[in-house]
Amino acid sequence: MEHNDGAGGSSTDELRQRYRLEQQKRIRPDGMAQWRELGEELDRDPFVEPGFTRDPVVEETTVVVVGGGFAGMLTAIDLGKHGITDFRIVEKAGDFGGTWYWNRYPGCMCDVESFVYLPLLEETGYMPTEHYASATEIFEYSRLLARTFDLYPHALFQTDLTGAEWDEDALRWGVTTSRGDRLSARFLVLAGGILHKAKLPGIPGIDEFAGKAFHTSRWDYRYTGGGPTEPMDRLADKRVGIIGTGATAVQVVPQVARVAKELYVFQRTPSAVGVRNQQPTDVEWFESLQPGWQHDRIVNFTQAVTGAQPAVDLVSDGWTEVMWVDTQRGSGSEHDLEALERIDFEVMEAIRQRVENVVEDPETAERLKPYWGKHCKRVCFHDEYLPSFNRPNVHLVDTEGRGVDEITARGPVVDGVEYPVDLLIYASGFEVTTDLHHRLGFDPKGVGGVALSERWARGAHTLHGVLASGFPNLLLISLVQGGFGTNFSHLLSESAKHVAHIIEACVEEGIVTIEPDEAAEEEWLAVLLGVGAAGARYFQACTPSFYNSEQQAIDARAARNLTYSGSLLDYIGYLERWRAEPDFAGVRTRRAEAMENG
Ligand code: NDP
Repeated sequence: MEHNDGAGGSSTDELRQRYRLEQQKRIRPDGMAQWRELGEELDRDPFVEPGFTRDPVVEETTVVVVGGGFAGMLTAIDLGKHGITDFRIVEKAGDFGGTWYWNRYPGCMCDVESFVYLPLLEETGYMPTEHYASATEIFEYSRLLARTFDLYPHALFQTDLTGAEWDEDALRWGVTTSRGDRLSARFLVLAGGILHKAKLPGIPGIDEFAGKAFHTSRWDYRYTGGGPTEPMDRLADKRVGIIGTGATAVQVVPQVARVAKELYVFQRTPSAVGVRNQQPTDVEWFESLQPGWQHDRIVNFTQAVTGAQPAVDLVSDGWTEVMWVDTQRGSGSEHDLEALERIDFEVMEAIRQRVENVVEDPETAERLKPYWGKHCKRVCFHDEYLPSFNRPNVHLVDTEGRGVDEITARGPVVDGVEYPVDLLIYASGFEVTTDLHHRLGFDPKGVGGVALSERWARGAHTLHGVLASGFPNLLLISLVQGGFGTNFSHLLSESAKHVAHIIEACVEEGIVTIEPDEAAEEEWLAVLLGVGAAGARYFQACTPSFYNSEQQAIDARAARNLTYSGSLLDYIGYLERWRAEPDFAGVRTRRAEAMENG
């Protein structure tokens, strides 16, 4: 394939200045404090019938898994493959699927190719219908996975964890839930979701709005009519506002634009929107794939989007084209860094040029152009988002980086102009870098009753983001000191494999407790900091986003709560090498026979 080498119209200096200007406009003194929670009303699950009850469960199992999204499901599937079948899965939602349970907004899809995104395709024999699967298809696939691997009997749905406490006498985790369950488990796996806790912008007056409002992850089809696969038939006489222009809004806007009387899109920072090129699956091609194809394709894709430049680009799509060269870090020489900067500018110039080619009104086009580095925010891929702005009923309200100033009972206010709307949709995203216990919704208590929030008050302590000192037999799948990647399901599959391996090895070898040494945790932190430092210069110049905690000044705590920012394959390499060593390195274990012998 050809990779973009088109030059832009602006000089390097002009672009540097423009990027800096756009960054400065957006840095806010309130940083992460600009966000607020959904609150009970907006957070309610619209996809279940109210009034569900069941008897509390009181039981002992080897494992409790918190979360029924891909991370939790894949952990449970891997445990089953290792012969460990006495596990419980506790899930807040009414079914499996995680993010694909909650996100049913119109147009919702995964912009990572389905053949690398949907896990275990070779084992289920499922053929995705298109290159980029819709949320409906992925949700159904989650249910298929759950049926195929017999997960339903293990699940407690519509159940929130309320507490988890390590019992040093029993050497087990005691877990309590919102349904009165009392679960006891040797191992507790927190696979509580990466984009699990939706957030709202703390815009003054947000509670005063008198019309209908919801977050995209709680789409109310009773109000809009239609469904994820049917057109919304109740918006024809409605004025709709969408706050946010991230990956979610890029998918929602075209759908609402098609049916609403008027649509106002409130933009703070324009997204980069590359070419989608959706295609139906070529059945003949799919059927010709040889065993082992999916793992090869997944690894190849991750190589292609992390700058490893494999000999063949198997997926060869917008993602691999934009990410082909990793421009965040180089050898460190000025010459090398400038060459990478030029490539980054060229990729983004092509994206800006696309806006100009598609959007007819030059002023709107100008406002939709993203001026930030390609690794600063998540790039999107869509073919209908930009053309939506050519419709007469669609109005871009650009806030020049400030965000909506205020919301009144009638609607959002920008620059002193009030935009009355009937429906206000918050496409405002999810908490990503807030404290883990806050995102989980409960605060696990480890040895001596010390809460995670206390132990991590000055930042996280983990080995690989998975094991945490002071919390024996607790296994984490999260971004805190863990890996990161374009293809989240690659990350989650490998994390689940790692977690299941640790549990299986403990069960096999009579290891009763496992937790990392603090020295090993500090060594892991040094690895994270080393990788982070290599990209620091790049990220300093970035516009604020959840990738960089809104460019908030980094305190001691945030400095430890970082994610492995190198290639996902390198992170996986750390996990694999650790597993390959004969004894677990850097961990303290207690064995059954040693304890029996006093
Ligand atoms: P984001 O956090 O990416 O976007 C939130 C949006 O709200 C941003 O555009 C933000 O602007 C805007 N915003 C915040 N405050 C204000 C304000 N006061 N006034 C106006 N606008 C405001 O959330 P998304 O839900 O779009 O995406 C979250 C993540 O979900 C993605 O990064 C991705 O990982 C995942 N996702 C994946 C998809 C896929 O296809 N695989 C599809 C959709 C989502 P600003 O940019 O200035 O902060």
